[in-house]
Amino acid sequence: MSSSEFCGFHTEIDGMIKRSYRLWSEAYNERLSNAEFLRRILSLSDTGEEAKRVASHLLSKETESLNVDYASDL
Ligand SMILES: [Zn+2]
Repeated sequence: MSSSEFCGFHTEIDGMIKRSYRLWSEAYNERLSNAEFLRRILSLSDTGEEAKRVASHLLSKETESLNVDYASDL
């Protein structure tokens, strides 16, 4: 696993993001992809700056591994 890429503080935020993803994914009947979820929280004004830093890091990894042209989606 790669959770050690973050310090303790950001690992905690990473865990919160993953827990919210599970809740959102249930609400959307699991049609919401992880990348889509990360884009959504990045667009929310009440997402904290540190959470956005972690989310954009996760999103860049996600889109790298999927090799998706997400710019067309902006
Ligand atoms: Zn950190």
